[in-house]
Amino acid sequence: MSETALMVAIVDLALEAELRHRTEQGEFIRPLAVAPLVSYSWLLSYCRERKIRSRNCHHTAESRERALIAVQDDGLPIRLAAKSAGMSKSAVHRIVMKRRKSMVDSVDEVGFETVPPYRCPEHGKTTLRPCPACAAMR
Ligand SMILES: [Zn+2]
Repeated sequence: MSETALMVAIVDLALEAELRHRTEQGEFIRPLAVAPLVSYSWLLSYCRERKIRSRNCHHTAESRERALIAVQDDGLPIRLAAKSAGMSKSAVHRIVMKRRKSMVDSVDEVGFETVPPYRCPEHGKTTLRPCPACAAMR
């Protein structure tokens, strides 16, 4: 075995051991990728080959809240909010949609009447009265 091949084998063993240890501690694979050195897709296929799986642990209330704040208050896209909270995009999307639905459901019914098209002085053409945009801002 050449010296280079030996080095590669040692690095490979160390990487595998480290990934196994970290995923057993409950860490997710995604944040372990250090782009552009080790891309997530490369790491994912590496882990898949060696049957290294991140534990299927539920997110804490704290990480859910952090993701929600990132999307709602900081206006981050779901991708970045997921990264900052260490969650998957689909998990963050699910949480955001659940919150959004609960907020929409809690709003009182607004009675709209369909009328011939008219122009709201602020929001332009509409066929509803009152103007939905004006009603939403009240
Ligand atoms: Zn209006």
